[in-house]
Amino acid sequence: MVMSQINDRKQYAIETTVIHGGGQIDEATGAVNVPIYQTSTFKQDGLGKNRGYEYSRTGNPTRKVLEDLIAELEGGTAGFAFASGMAAISTVLSLYRTGDRILISRNVYGGTFRVLDKVFKNFGIEYSILGSEDPADLERSISDGVKAILLESPANPLMAVTDIAAFSEVAHRKGVQVIVDNTFMTPYLQRPLELGADIVVHSGTKYLGGHSDLVAGLVVVKDKDTADRLAFLQNAIGGILQPFDSFLLIRGIKTLSVRMDRHVENAKRLAEYLVSSPDVSKVYYPGLGSDPGYEVSRKQAKEAGAMLSFELKPGHDLNRFFESLELISLAESLGGVESLVCHPSTMTHASIPEDIRREVGITDGLIRLSPGLESADDLIRDLDNAIRGSRTA
Ligand SMILES: *Cc1c(COP(=O)(O)O)cnc(C)c1O
Repeated sequence: MVMSQINDRKQYAIETTVIHGGGQIDEATGAVNVPIYQTSTFKQDGLGKNRGYEYSRTGNPTRKVLEDLIAELEGGTAGFAFASGMAAISTVLSLYRTGDRILISRNVYGGTFRVLDKVFKNFGIEYSILGSEDPADLERSISDGVKAILLESPANPLMAVTDIAAFSEVAHRKGVQVIVDNTFMTPYLQRPLELGADIVVHSGTKYLGGHSDLVAGLVVVKDKDTADRLAFLQNAIGGILQPFDSFLLIRGIKTLSVRMDRHVENAKRLAEYLVSSPDVSKVYYPGLGSDPGYEVSRKQAKEAGAMLSFELKPGHDLNRFFESLELISLAESLGGVESLVCHPSTMTHASIPEDIRREVGITDGLIRLSPGLESADDLIRDLDNAIRGSRTA
């Protein structure tokens, strides 16, 4: 092994682990940042004799630091890095086989729904959508053949909160694995494995990378058996993260705690502004005391995250709203230093059929906001200006 490890890492707070976890100091040179091992293969010392690495699809030292780092942050036995969040999720879904059924929470990420509906279904892996965030509903939905539940909390774009511990308890009683997409929270705010989940997946593209400059995915698993199977699938399918992108993601994670604190602070300020706005009919943010997810969110997460959605009252021109924003960009994605806004029904959730969209409450007037790290006062001014400018009555 080239990399050193910090001994007894468990004693460190997460603010420390984001910087020192994974064994980031290069033992060969003392470099405080992990070198980018931009190599496809590794010279072997003799037949069957290598120094821990053979070929970079199977393992790469830069990627390994990232994988150990995310495993430490989520409190799992092993971490895996992929070329995108969807590559990570697809590799996890490849743990299942024909005849297996996956339950998914409603409002699951559009791409996750699409890969289940248009790809894995063709291989005989079925899915069903849960009707609510009620554990009793989960219990009723677990029929023979259900092997896993895949959930997001808070779930995009209505920020519905699921009680991960209660869901895990029900699922485990029925021998069902629990997979949590923790992209919206990051391990700084919520650690699903500690709440009972078996597998955590991430789009590293969002808060973990944090700068909207890379696409990446991560997986962390709790038990050794699943870790072995996932290591096999990662190598067999091959959707791995490249060394340079692994380096960028490690660099992003170093500032995760300070960034998340500020993202959350800005989200709270914007939520307060939106609640008080006479133009806004509804605000979805589990950090608000009035939100249905508030209590569960407080119980299972350090903060309610930084994503929020809202609806403008009738009498506003949505096109004009988006065009009037100066600072906040209309774009897919979230979790970067710059504030982004999107229109779920035509953008992130367009791949979900209209009837399902309507059923779960993704209306055409819904707007999703990812507050960045700018001044909250500037962001509020920008939103206020665009909201006023979009009035038609
Ligand atoms: C973006 C996202 C994904 C997909 O990740 P990519 O990196 O874009 O492939 C999965 N889940 C959630 C919650 C996301 O926001």
